[in-house]
Amino acid sequence: MLVAIAANMFVSGGAGMSSYGEIRERAGDLHHKLVEIRRHFHSYPELSFQEKETGNYIYDLMNSLGLETKKEVGGTGVTALLQGLQEGPTVALRADMDALPIQDTKEVSYASTREGVCHACGHDVHMAVLIGTALILSEKREELKGQVKFIFQPAEEKPPGGARLMVQEGVLDNPRVNCILGIHTFPYHRAGKVVLKKGELMAAADSFKLTIRGKGGHGAAPHQSVDAVVVASQVVQALQLISSRMVDPLEPLVVTIGTINGGESFNIIAEEVEMKGTVRTLNPHTREKIPEIIENIAEGITKGFKATYLLEYDQNYPVLMNDPRVMEVVEGAAREILGQERVVNLEKPVMGSEDFSCYLEQVPGAFVFLGTGGEGEVYPWHHHKFDVDEGVLSTGAAFLSWSAVKLLQNPI
Ligand code: MN
Repeated sequence: MLVAIAANMFVSGGAGMSSYGEIRERAGDLHHKLVEIRRHFHSYPELSFQEKETGNYIYDLMNSLGLETKKEVGGTGVTALLQGLQEGPTVALRADMDALPIQDTKEVSYASTREGVCHACGHDVHMAVLIGTALILSEKREELKGQVKFIFQPAEEKPPGGARLMVQEGVLDNPRVNCILGIHTFPYHRAGKVVLKKGELMAAADSFKLTIRGKGGHGAAPHQSVDAVVVASQVVQALQLISSRMVDPLEPLVVTIGTINGGESFNIIAEEVEMKGTVRTLNPHTREKIPEIIENIAEGITKGFKATYLLEYDQNYPVLMNDPRVMEVVEGAAREILGQERVVNLEKPVMGSEDFSCYLEQVPGAFVFLGTGGEGEVYPWHHHKFDVDEGVLSTGAAFLSWSAVKLLQNPI
């Protein structure tokens, strides 16, 4: 009897939660199960806003853990609430669910079975890690001081994105979320590492369509026409001068024209050219200035050559800003459970974007990269051979579980 009491005191002593060693061990035990789950998602990928089977699979699994589970949130999203047995704040953990319109060319047993659809950004990993975290934390309910809300979000890859819809449907309320954590694969560091950065982590991503209209005619008589191809070429060149001549050189900016289409035949002057592009920025003030600059350039050049233009500009995802207080807790948790040598501080932000920033506009939080690099060749995100070292699954679940525990213990 005395021994039992002593043991019990030991378990609930100190941090007030079973030690991170215990969580790490449990995550290790879950490795094979998480590999199986991840491979299931990888074999049966679904595109943005079509994640129905994925959502049902997650819904059933979360329900079986006794969590308060909802589906079809923000389209095909799923949420699950784990109620701790002690009073406290609410920490949200988010994974995205969608795959990309890419043909999987990997030769592995778990390759995509669906033509032209592939989990080439690792969202399958995010879901498996979050499920692993739910498995671990649902066994610790009596020790949790507060609630953990698991958010499985659709359509990260397709602006305006699933995050905004889920926020509109109140995913951050009932109970109100105090802070939120998100994870993403990171192929440029080895699996088992966690890659962190305070402040700006990812860029704002906006998109535009610019149509240049000239006057068609015979290819041999350009003076009787207005050549939309030549005018569009001038515009493309001029847009590249925005970052070098019109914006502070210390403010990051990318303007990319990704598609350009126009013309009918080699001997006809093109009447119309349509271009689509993306604009990436890290500073909200720079972000605000760009649409007008593009408009002015398009207006000036087209006017000079008697062409016209139409600009359609969409502001998509804002800059992703990690909260320094949340980061501090998360970094401490990572150093404890993974060890000092597995925590990497990222020096520079990346110009990619994420709709996780939509949650961060509402509540403080952090987005964290999980190393997924392995022995073989590393392919970048969105590559048709993108794959991960599956060691990330158990270390990711251990890290995320312990971070949630620490965030409940240290409310923001
Ligand atoms: Mn992604």
